[in-house]
Amino acid sequence: MHLSPRDQLIRLAHHFGSDPEYARAGGGNASVKVDGVLHIKPSGTMLADLRDEDLVPLRLEPLFEALVSDEPVEGDPVMVAAERARVGDPAGRRPSVEILFHALIADPLVIHLHPLVANAVTCNEDGRQLTADLLGDEALWVDYIDPGIPLARGIAAARVEFESHTGRHAPAITMLGNHGIIVSGDTFEEVAQRTTWLTSTIAAAIAAAGPDAGTDAAAGAVSTLDNAGSAATLTTLAEQFRVATESRSVVLDADAFIAATTGPSAGPVSRGPMIPDQIVYAGSLPVLLREDDDADAVAHQVARFRGIHGRSPVVAVIPRVAAFAVGEGDKAARNALDTYRDALRMARDADRIGRVRVMDQSERTFIENWEAESYRRSVAATA
Ligand SMILES: [Zn+2]
Repeated sequence: MHLSPRDQLIRLAHHFGSDPEYARAGGGNASVKVDGVLHIKPSGTMLADLRDEDLVPLRLEPLFEALVSDEPVEGDPVMVAAERARVGDPAGRRPSVEILFHALIADPLVIHLHPLVANAVTCNEDGRQLTADLLGDEALWVDYIDPGIPLARGIAAARVEFESHTGRHAPAITMLGNHGIIVSGDTFEEVAQRTTWLTSTIAAAIAAAGPDAGTDAAAGAVSTLDNAGSAATLTTLAEQFRVATESRSVVLDADAFIAATTGPSAGPVSRGPMIPDQIVYAGSLPVLLREDDDADAVAHQVARFRGIHGRSPVVAVIPRVAAFAVGEGDKAARNALDTYRDALRMARDADRIGRVRVMDQSERTFIENWEAESYRRSVAATA
């Protein structure tokens, strides 16, 4: 059966978008180029739900111009470029903020994902070396760069450098520091095969490294939920956290994975976020609570967090015991906690094969204040 390029794109989006190992919530995106027009997933739509009629068509030429132009524009330069590239009526859909790197990769099919396994390499102090060791010339490494035009230009520069050094085309896989992957190709099969290969290669390296004896994994094998009194305490604390943050919903996890990965020194517990999507859905850092906190203590910690960070916490952690997340509904709260669990796993696996790298203060502040991300969050909140 011969599928049209747009059908192959939809198939690719559904194949990886429905698997939380590869994409969660509105994260990730996908595009296809047909006759000088880029057809891309709208911002806030989930890959798993993408339909042909959702795709936003954009002429490639204005996108290429935005990549090289330093002409000052009013507003977000990516959205200005999207407006210039527009074909027809967008019907309220807004293209992904990552349109420019989709445009600059010549292959017709491009998928961008935040796979948990791949992010053990991208969120790593040794990410460049691990990429070279594990994936060789099949992948290009790009250090973390602020999203939008700076990231697209950084990717373009890395591709040019690879091509001038090796005399060969830039690889179909790009590893984006503290972010995710881009994989391209001519067909669904080609892109799917490359994505699966890269994930299984890194998964094998993580498995071979094994759990670090004596660190968080070994220390937290017992879940406090085995104890009924403790379970009631945690439920009460979760409710106090919900009230303190003036949220509608709260969810609570206190399983062996949380116990093993939320040691006080774990990256996502005390040092910083792993990837931009974590900031968008779960906040940069959790507020830390204690099992013996009362309602006043929880309120005090939340107020203190607001004073320091200028916003309410989304996630609360009792190190080695439990994690809570709040939201404007059960779905949003659950998504926040699942996003945070993803971050904990990336950090654990990054430490197994190297040393976890969290986003630094300026990297995370940029995302916290980014208008385009708050748009995505507002779309996700009403979904
Ligand atoms: Zn991304």
